[in-house]
Amino acid sequence: MIKKLIRKILGKGGRDANKLVVLGPEAHGIDPRLLSNNAVRVTSTLQEAGYEAFVVGGAVRDLLLGVKPKDFDIATNATPEQVKRLFRRAFIIGKRFQIVHVMFGQDLLEVTTFRGTTSDNAPKDEHGRVLRDNTFGTQAEDAERRDFTINAMYYNPANQQVLDYHGGIEDIRAKTLRIIGQPEARYREDPVRMLRVVRFAAKLGFGIEQETAAPIKVMAPLINNVPAARVFDEMLKLLMSGQALACLQQLRKEGLHHGLLPLLDVVLEQPLGFKFVTLALDSTDARIHAGKTVSPGFLFASLLWHQVLEKWNAYRAAGEQTIPALHLAADDVLDSQTEKLALQRKIGSDMRDIWAMQPRFERRQGKSPFKLLEHQRFRAGYDFLLLRCASGEIDAEIGDWWTAFYEGDDITREELISSASQPGRGEAGGAAKRKRGPRRGGRSRNRGEGASDEGGEGGAQVGADHAGHAGDGGAD
Ligand code: ATP
Ligand code: MG
Repeated sequence: MIKKLIRKILGKGGRDANKLVVLGPEAHGIDPRLLSNNAVRVTSTLQEAGYEAFVVGGAVRDLLLGVKPKDFDIATNATPEQVKRLFRRAFIIGKRFQIVHVMFGQDLLEVTTFRGTTSDNAPKDEHGRVLRDNTFGTQAEDAERRDFTINAMYYNPANQQVLDYHGGIEDIRAKTLRIIGQPEARYREDPVRMLRVVRFAAKLGFGIEQETAAPIKVMAPLINNVPAARVFDEMLKLLMSGQALACLQQLRKEGLHHGLLPLLDVVLEQPLGFKFVTLALDSTDARIHAGKTVSPGFLFASLLWHQVLEKWNAYRAAGEQTIPALHLAADDVLDSQTEKLALQRKIGSDMRDIWAMQPRFERRQGKSPFKLLEHQRFRAGYDFLLLRCASGEIDAEIGDWWTAFYEGDDITREELISSASQPGRGEAGGAAKRKRGPRRGGRSRNRGEGASDEGGEGGAQVGADHAGHAGDGGAD
């Protein structure tokens, strides 16, 4: 209470908190055509039943920016039970703070009852992170609990008014991210907000207001106390924002990747991995902009590939054969990241598939390429192979060969297989004969003459290439 009073007197952080500004359509300029029919359906159904209902949060922000929101959240003074009764397909979810999922076909809308402000006696962990806080409240209180001023506006489709409690409109116009309330306190309550501010800054091209930015460097380690599943969700949003690269660069620029996410420490500090990750994220961003899907498994497989490579080399150096060594490396990386990141099982198995497929691309003889083509995740494995080529990790020739094979007709494919069987091309000829010792061949452009190991699985060349890289990596 006292803290709140002091904050009010000093006016730190938020400006004139709780000063409601109401804007009509001429003032805010939202194009109603950007609203989804279902969002209007939900708000009008609630309103007809006598409740207040608004589009809220990121959707209002996007509408004000003239962008079609990807999803719509609705805020209301109706309780979850009251909401549920009004819709045919509505499900109350969440144990601690209940929200309602309203479904229309595939479309899902999240309806949330206004939340009360965080009470001083809400249960917290030893660092001040709020563990439970489930009280309902007024709209003004709900606004105060939201993270940034630009995320705390309410739009009523019925009268086309925007309700702005914290100067969000002003901040949108100034392209500024400003946290609501006292920054340190808000980050302490929920450290994920530090990740969110960086994500929004990169995604929207906004600046971070000075008081909002200042505490992050010091408070970044608090992220480590957040349950891994939540960090993972936010991390996924960051990577799928269409500005993944910009987000990571921003994290790096501000030194936030240290402590913010263990994964990023690894990824951004490795020059070799950095090239690969940059390419992977670039193509992810391009896919998102083109409206294509992105698989989280592919994304995380890319982010962690150079960690796998390093361990793969270490196991091989310790005498393990190529394929078992790769599986051991994958196990190690997945185990450690599952702990930190709560990688879901499905994502983990996708990652493993993509990695395990890589040595198989070296086998360009007999039936192997045809078998690989039938692999359920071939396309992901192939895209991954192309990234490895583009980053300079392996010779571009192998990627070109597979592109030709993938796109070619039966005759072309047979020709490609016989060309790969020539000594010096593909793994055949060379690898089968080679056991240990210096490797030669047409593909060795700028590769070190690493000791290649047993080539039974066709992994010899990959092994040799990686051995070369381990040398580079060690020097960095
Ligand atoms: P996006 O476009 O990425 O979905 P968003 O702003 O809609 O952005 P959501 O995670 O969908 O982000 O959250 C919806 C709204 O809930 C936010 O706009 C914000 O008002 C509120 N919110 C979400 N996370 C937090 C948080 N950690 N602390 C406070 N408010 C939050
Ligand atoms: Mg959202």
